[in-house]
Amino acid sequence: MKVKHIDHIGVAVKDLGQASKFYTDVLGIKLQEEEVVADQKVRVAFLPITDSEIELLESTEPDGPVAKYIEKRGEGIQHIAFRVENIEEALEEMKAKGIRLIDEKPRLGAGGARIAFVHPKETNGVLIEICQRD
Ligand code: ZN
Repeated sequence: MKVKHIDHIGVAVKDLGQASKFYTDVLGIKLQEEEVVADQKVRVAFLPITDSEIELLESTEPDGPVAKYIEKRGEGIQHIAFRVENIEEALEEMKAKGIRLIDEKPRLGAGGARIAFVHPKETNGVLIEICQRD
């Protein structure tokens, strides 16, 4: 597979408005937009830096994956996303190599990207997202 670059780093936070202030007011990064991904029960704020972005994630429901993550491990980096040229090909290649996947097929993520998560048991505890943007 061809990994192009780190697409984004997902950071789990309790309060988007509060958390984004450091990035905007201190680091001077422009908040691009906010979006609710109902499927994953998160509100997402995008803070782009050249080819990559910080993706702040706030749970919209107490039982959402981000809320559960914060409950278990506290706020912080929740996942790292690699942008690939062809997500289907990337998933097929990983399956062929026996890598456990959370998503066997791509689904729609924030920002219109097609995404899939790799099981963190395969990656020393790092939740890795593969994504493709057309
Ligand atoms: Zn992500």
